[in-house]
Amino acid sequence: MRVELWSMTPDAERLIERCGRLCWDSEGRASETSAGRFIRALVQRGHESVLEHAVATFFIETDRATSHQLVRHRLASFSQRSQRYVDEGEFATEAPEAVRSDPRATALFEAQVAAAAAAYRGLKELGIKSEDARAVLPNATLTRLAMTANLREWRHFIRLRGAAAAQLPIRRIALAVLEILRERCPNVFCDLVADPERAVVRRDREE
Ligand SMILES: Cc1cc2nc3c(=O)[nH]c(=O)nc-3n(C[C@H](O)[C@H](O)[C@H](O)COP(=O)(O)OP(=O)(O)OC[C@H]3O[C@@H](n4cnc5c(N)ncnc54)[C@H](O)[C@@H]3O)c2cc1C
Repeated sequence: MRVELWSMTPDAERLIERCGRLCWDSEGRASETSAGRFIRALVQRGHESVLEHAVATFFIETDRATSHQLVRHRLASFSQRSQRYVDEGEFATEAPEAVRSDPRATALFEAQVAAAAAAYRGLKELGIKSEDARAVLPNATLTRLAMTANLREWRHFIRLRGAAAAQLPIRRIALAVLEILRERCPNVFCDLVADPERAVVRRDREE
């Protein structure tokens, strides 16, 4: 799994404050230090539409099963490495941790991946296009995508996919995104924290 921040609205919290203050005609009360308190109040009141003015784009490398979970988030925008246009002859996989921690499960997993690789190459040699040969590739095949969302949607994604009920690979992605975004926008994400079991919890009050 890899998660990298590729781009983010510059001065995101200053922009959010500026947009939010339009609602109260209080732009004149903005100062070098006023954004934090203003944004934390927005978050506590649930006035989250103002957070939509800032966006962040992440590069994510994960398996295809997890990428399918990612792309269910309809308010985000995606660009994903294509298995139609890119040859997957050298495809890489990532086994789930539960499989990796059991030698017998690992052996079964690796045998299946080897069979899939042989079938993929065999189909290509028969002249089958990548878009059809991919039918034999496993869910564990690694993929890469760019995911762009506004900060309100990232908060939603982190709360849903960082929760203990979420599957481990996507939870790890949500936690990595939270760590990066909390550093960039500590006030927008002030109430979302990782608990000791590494699931995201929401605190009612700011830290
Ligand atoms: C633990 C877990 C288990 C899951 N299991 C399954 C499963 O078994 N099968 C399955 O199909 N999916 C499953 N999902 C996926 C889930 O149903 C959602 O599709 C996915 O989490 C995206 O969530 P979302 O719709 O809230 O997010 P987004 O698409 O990012 O939307 C964000 C928010 O915008 C609003 N919104 C977006 N689109 C609409 C709309 N058309 N109408 C009204 N409001 C809208 C909603 O408030 C929504 O919460 C699971 C998710 C989790 C976290």
